[in-house]
Amino acid sequence: MVHLKKKHILIVGAGPGGLSAAMTLANRGFDVTIVEKNDRVGGRNAELNLGDYSFDVGPTFLHQKFCLDEVFAEADRKAEDYLELVNLNPMTRLSWADTSLHTYSNQEQMVAELDRVFPGSSEGFERYMNDQAIKFRKIYPCLQRPYQSLSSFLSPKLVKALPYVLTTKSVHDTLGNYFQDERLKLAFTFQAKYLGMSPWHCPALFSILSFTEYRFGVYHVQGGLNRISHAMADVFGELGGDIRLESGVKELTMQGRQLTGAILENGETIKADAVVINADYAHAATQFFGKRSIPLESMRKKQFSCSTFMIYVGLDTLYPDEPHHHILFADDYQANVHDIQGQKRVSEDMSIYVRNSSITDPHVAPAGKSGLYILVPTINARHGFDWDAIKEEYADKILAKIEAKTGMKDLRQRIVEKRIIAPNDWQSTNIFMGATFNLAHNLTQMLYMRPHNRYQGYDNCYLVGGGTHPGSGLPTIYESGRISANLVCDQFGKSYEKIDYATGYLQRA
Ligand SMILES: Cc1cc2nc3c(=O)[nH]c(=O)nc-3n(C[C@H](O)[C@H](O)[C@H](O)COP(=O)(O)OP(=O)(O)OC[C@H]3O[C@@H](n4cnc5c(N)ncnc54)[C@H](O)[C@@H]3O)c2cc1C
Repeated sequence: MVHLKKKHILIVGAGPGGLSAAMTLANRGFDVTIVEKNDRVGGRNAELNLGDYSFDVGPTFLHQKFCLDEVFAEADRKAEDYLELVNLNPMTRLSWADTSLHTYSNQEQMVAELDRVFPGSSEGFERYMNDQAIKFRKIYPCLQRPYQSLSSFLSPKLVKALPYVLTTKSVHDTLGNYFQDERLKLAFTFQAKYLGMSPWHCPALFSILSFTEYRFGVYHVQGGLNRISHAMADVFGELGGDIRLESGVKELTMQGRQLTGAILENGETIKADAVVINADYAHAATQFFGKRSIPLESMRKKQFSCSTFMIYVGLDTLYPDEPHHHILFADDYQANVHDIQGQKRVSEDMSIYVRNSSITDPHVAPAGKSGLYILVPTINARHGFDWDAIKEEYADKILAKIEAKTGMKDLRQRIVEKRIIAPNDWQSTNIFMGATFNLAHNLTQMLYMRPHNRYQGYDNCYLVGGGTHPGSGLPTIYESGRISANLVCDQFGKSYEKIDYATGYLQRA
């Protein structure tokens, strides 16, 4: 019997996109190696340790859990066998200067809460949910396939969705059809920030983001969402995959349209039949391709997401009455968003997201203590703001604001561990412009116009992660891993059956 040598696939980066492609490809019989620059897996979804405290570096909301289930099923596994998932209900507390609203994925509870805080508003909510379900069913299938050619872009599925896609309206305009109160519009549009965009600029099609949150819920993973990265790495290992940490790629090697492998920062060469790039798209495209890299100036002409100013604090206490997820809107949210969009001014009146996961999760801090994850959306590093000069002072202003606006009145006195990550710090970890949510998701950088899953100009180079189609956010990033894995299979004539849980969810949506 003749044994054909397995094709060797090299994956650059062990973030969610790289891990999802890696699991799928390893289970389909490829010989897969991941090379990761860091000393741990996960990328922006890695673990950050400060003393006895454990934090998520980035993602804290898991949406559309069925996408995670699909990735594990692609590897013949169940996510629940590796992870303890908690469906949060209430999901989030939203606070404005004068009132607060709790959000629920249970529709009856949400209706009651809306009528309690904004009497009479639940009619708009129910209309919103019904209309968005129709929109979601039309748009979602378009996010599950690649757009390698203009003809694929004009597929019947996308043509059906075009009326929802090709509109100059924003998510904020859309919400005007359902609510008059500005605060309520925000409750259903702040999710644009998950893409690093402003509700006033984010295309209307993304009103499905808040819909999926209210319909399918928000999950926490005990131990932190970084456990997902660890679990994916474990599965990949069980399937025979090889992860090499502290193995940054310096450059890819190529002959014409074929990549032949990579040269690592330590000088080692690795040969491959195909390469899947998970490193930040704009970083990779400007650095990895030698003379064929995209010039920095051309890349800078594209539009990028905002960045985030992060504070991770370990406390010697636990605030049991503070919610798991809490969003404190700036007093003038529109001005705050305008500052971020303008990319130059750091808002004094900032919006703040605080995660107090210790009220749900006993694994992230010692008993009786807790860790807070604090995120402030802010300008990216396009104009080179001097964060080092102000970051301690800015962090103190944020902490003072949290003390004033929540029940954590002695917060600053309870801090025993602290770490700050500012936009320039993100940038120094190979995130182009420190734009934490990658290329912006405006219509000219979406679908066929976003960098393709099979990278243009090469026959065996694939992209995964937030910088390619379908875009930033864990569910879509997992989907990018599956889309690119399927394209690799197509290249090598490997048949596969795509796991599909989404269709059932769409029908029930
Ligand atoms: C603060 C923050 C909060 C977020 N919150 C959420 C949330 O709540 N929910 C959600 O769904 N999404 C969230 N996101 C968005 C997104 O889901 C995550 O950022 C996600 O981790 C991005 O995954 P990725 O695979 O695109 O890239 P990354 O996670 O960045 O992975 C890329 C990997 O490539 C590696 N790499 C880079 N250069 C090289 C090199 N030269 N050689 C080898 N390896 C290299 C990196 O070290 C990294 O491990 C958040 C993002 C941030 C930053």
